[in-house]
Amino acid sequence: MAPVQVIRATPKIVPTWSIREDEVEAEVKRLAQAIKAVSEGLEEQRKKLLAAGIAEKEAEIFSVHRMILQDPLALKKVQTRIAEERLNAEDCVQFLIGVLEKTMSGLEGNSVRSYGADISEPWRMVLAQLMSSGREALLSSEGQVVLAAAELTPHVVTFLDRDRVLAVVTETGGRFSHGAVLARSFGFPTVVGVPNLLSRLEQGMRIIVDGDKGTVQLNPDQEAVDHFLERQARRRARLERLSVHAALPAETSDGHPFSVRINVESTRDLGLSGFDPSHTDGVGLLRTEFLYMERTQFPSEEEQYRMYRRVIEGVGGRPVTIRTLDIGNDKQLPYFKTPHEVNPALGWRGIRVYLEWQDLLRVQFRAILRASADGPVRVLFPMVTSNAEVERLHVIFNEVRAQLEDQGFEVAEEIPVGIMVEVPSALITMPRILESVDFVSVGTNDLVQYLLACDRDNPWVSRLYDPYHPAVMWSLDFVAKSAAAAGKPCYVCGEMAGDYATALLLVGMGYSGVSVAQNFVAQVKFGIRESTLAEAQQLAKTVCSLDNAASIRELLEATRVKLHDGSQRASSES
Ligand code: PEP
Ligand code: MG
Repeated sequence: MAPVQVIRATPKIVPTWSIREDEVEAEVKRLAQAIKAVSEGLEEQRKKLLAAGIAEKEAEIFSVHRMILQDPLALKKVQTRIAEERLNAEDCVQFLIGVLEKTMSGLEGNSVRSYGADISEPWRMVLAQLMSSGREALLSSEGQVVLAAAELTPHVVTFLDRDRVLAVVTETGGRFSHGAVLARSFGFPTVVGVPNLLSRLEQGMRIIVDGDKGTVQLNPDQEAVDHFLERQARRRARLERLSVHAALPAETSDGHPFSVRINVESTRDLGLSGFDPSHTDGVGLLRTEFLYMERTQFPSEEEQYRMYRRVIEGVGGRPVTIRTLDIGNDKQLPYFKTPHEVNPALGWRGIRVYLEWQDLLRVQFRAILRASADGPVRVLFPMVTSNAEVERLHVIFNEVRAQLEDQGFEVAEEIPVGIMVEVPSALITMPRILESVDFVSVGTNDLVQYLLACDRDNPWVSRLYDPYHPAVMWSLDFVAKSAAAAGKPCYVCGEMAGDYATALLLVGMGYSGVSVAQNFVAQVKFGIRESTLAEAQQLAKTVCSLDNAASIRELLEATRVKLHDGSQRASSES
């Protein structure tokens, strides 16, 4: 619960929100500052071109753009809309751009157009300026806030200050989109896919976000506030009770071992208060693309090597599973523009990018292999669709290893190599792929989207994106059985593994372990420690016998309640 702060997280969507009367002046000032910044930028660009020997006439367009921004009528239009409609400056500038575009289309062939000056162009720059300064404002303003955005890209999440942002709400996106995955992993209660959210918000309005229930309350009354505080206190007490499990071994009550590793998206995760590396069995998924995202250009081999070494040190020398870069789709690096794709989830992503652009992979391999001298590392490949790809990756890996050894670098003898199981073709050919790898880890976030043909980022199909669909359960079971037959370990590192009843189900299916966001370690261990292996196996058997998601979800909910009640009884008896 906090005042809401709206940010312009995406350049594609221009947000609209209402402002109070006493905020009009500040909003008009914000507009003036944006215009000033754009004008100064235009003048600087003009001077730069002239200095570079470009003819005065060519550079004239910048002066024209500045003059357009000085048009008092256009400015008045925007200011009036801010004051009368009480809307944010971005919305009002966007409105002006619409008006100007209409005017321009009526002036086809007119001298203004032939002069090469699109009169809406400089206003687009003002809009871009306003939208980019939104993020800066968030970074520089003070006090705790709930963040609201049209869309939450992973890139934006990496900038959020964890002490200041109490929760996140967005208009678009799905529960398993990368922005949400990252926000959850950083511990922000997050609600996504709230239609027309921004138009209902006023900057600074009090808002309650309940990430467990997926609800958002605007301007809550005293009763709602009291209810929230009560729920929050109960939740904190429950988490406190569960926290004792974090330090205990991840094994069933009859001693069957299971590993609980963590997903890491930032080296900052490891320095967080409350994080104790001895509570985990290492890192089960290092999403290296997010380490790349926190930078302004590709990290060099040396920088990558140091990042990996920091992670190894951060978990006290426990195994670190380094996933090679998984860029593409919604995970974009600001300094690496990939081509526009109509269907990016099925496009140029993960290993597909660097099997073509091998320099990226070779540098990353060098850094990983060098880090292997500092502690146990494993390599994990995302978006694998066939064994042929795995074999190509092995060839490159071995070439890089031989090169490093020739150059006198120390490289560990044993570096297990595995794949993410997230594409149906890899799943179906699992028994064959298992012959070529040391382990597999199921990425359920993607596997669900590809199995069910259901975009993980799209709120319109979020109801169909169902991790408890029988197809998902049967697939998980198939991977575990295939891995057991091959004598290789298998893991799950998708979000669903963070739920304690699901983790128990995975124990029962025969998984070797899970990898979850740090803040779920205690509850996952709780679920496992409260049951016997036979109980977990019975749960898996029953789940796999069910043919509809509703019954599976019901059974898992009953399991959660049973585990919870059992532990409450035990703690009250003691
Ligand atoms: C997954 O797909 O489940 C996964 C762990 O990878 P990511 O969420 O980074 O795509
Ligand atoms: Mg994935």
